[in-house]
Amino acid sequence: MSNGMTRREREVTEIDDILAILDKCKVLHLGLTDGEEPYVVPMNYGYLYEDGVLTLYLHGAKRGKKIDMICNNPKVFFEMDCDITPFEGDIACRYGITYASVMGRGLAEIVEDVEEKKKGMSVLMKTQTGKDFEFEDKMVAFVNVIKITASSFTAKRRPLPTNHN
Ligand SMILES: Cc1cc2nc3c(=O)[nH]c(=O)nc-3n(C[C@H](O)[C@H](O)[C@H](O)COP(=O)(O)OP(=O)(O)OC[C@H]3O[C@@H](n4cnc5c(N)ncnc54)[C@H](O)[C@@H]3O)c2cc1C
Repeated sequence: MSNGMTRREREVTEIDDILAILDKCKVLHLGLTDGEEPYVVPMNYGYLYEDGVLTLYLHGAKRGKKIDMICNNPKVFFEMDCDITPFEGDIACRYGITYASVMGRGLAEIVEDVEEKKKGMSVLMKTQTGKDFEFEDKMVAFVNVIKITASSFTAKRRPLPTNHN
């Protein structure tokens, strides 16, 4: 399977630029598979980038299809995008859309440790709101926190064409 990117000139390679995209995107599309068929579920997320490792935190109900699937197969794929602006052209094939996006793969786990659950929720709220929130034990007792340790990720940006009016 190819890991190369078509339209290589659109690849974003500087980590600070990639993290800026992760700050801006608010919704992660989580791809799961249980061997039967793929499943994609949109979720809010928070991220940490430490020592070259990208970690994502998600939260949600303790039960449901995505939890069952993660327990059966923790290998996941994820995608986030932002800066979506359609633009027009003089002919149909010059219409398009601007975007910035990140895609990657990793391993998901359900966080059991209460301190890490609180940390994950603070990270999520920081990414989502830009603000610092503290969590108490009881606030995280009734939610699942999912941690994804990314094994690889790439980013891409399509700006507005320079010849566009
Ligand atoms: C922008 C956005 C942000 C969200 N953020 C979060 C979040 O941070 N945490 C969170 O837990 N959930 C979030 N949700 C809801 C999430 O997409 C799921 O609906 C929810 O997590 C339940 O997923 P599940 O796999 O447990 O589905 P279940 O409740 O087990 O339902 C299974 C079935 O319901 C249907 N279904 C489930 N979700 C959706 C959906 N979103 N749209 C249409 N059909 C659906 C599918 O057919 C699926 O097979 C968000 C949704 C959106 C659109």
